[in-house]
Amino acid sequence: MTIRAVFLDVGETVINETRPWSLLADRIEVPRMTFFSVLGALIVEGRNHRELLEIVRPDLEKREDFDRLINETDYRFLPEDVYGDVRPCLIELKRRGYYVGVAGNQAVEREDDIRGMGLTADSIATSGRWGVAKPEPAFFERLIAECGYPAGEIVYVGDRVDNDIVPADRAGMIPVHIVRGPWGHLHRNRPDARRARAQIRTLSELPAAVESL
Ligand SMILES: [Mg+2]
Repeated sequence: MTIRAVFLDVGETVINETRPWSLLADRIEVPRMTFFSVLGALIVEGRNHRELLEIVRPDLEKREDFDRLINETDYRFLPEDVYGDVRPCLIELKRRGYYVGVAGNQAVEREDDIRGMGLTADSIATSGRWGVAKPEPAFFERLIAECGYPAGEIVYVGDRVDNDIVPADRAGMIPVHIVRGPWGHLHRNRPDARRARAQIRTLSELPAAVESL
């Protein structure tokens, strides 16, 4: 199989969200241990993380409050939030001749954050800019159009089985599951996780994994 392009998801694939989510926990005055434990329970139950507020701060129970609070929290990505294995991986993928992209479900402001980090990528995109979000098929159609290669020649790397692996597979792309972050670990043994063509634990494994597909 000829692989031409490799796209990486953003949250917990490229960006370690520990610091920004901790800021949100502090903002709503919920201890971080409580915040992250409840988040994990929601992930296990397949529920939306925005339900977290309804549990830990029922006085702020409207789901739209979640996004408003994020905006009030100075929630943004900094260069220090990029996982340490990202830059060497992107450089190595480019060296091997692949088209490299970063595309995930994020507000368009987070795209600006990432663009300012000097990552080695041909394309950086977010659901906020495209107006379509994972797991919608339109997100992956947009991604395919972005690089111009057929779906079967594109690898998509993500931590979530429901939002990354399953819809990338449905779109005809080649899904690779990265087991890190809360979703990555908790989704690892789901039956649908087997739809990934490879499972990795760090991005340092990715160039060789792509080569072996
Ligand atoms: Mg993610």
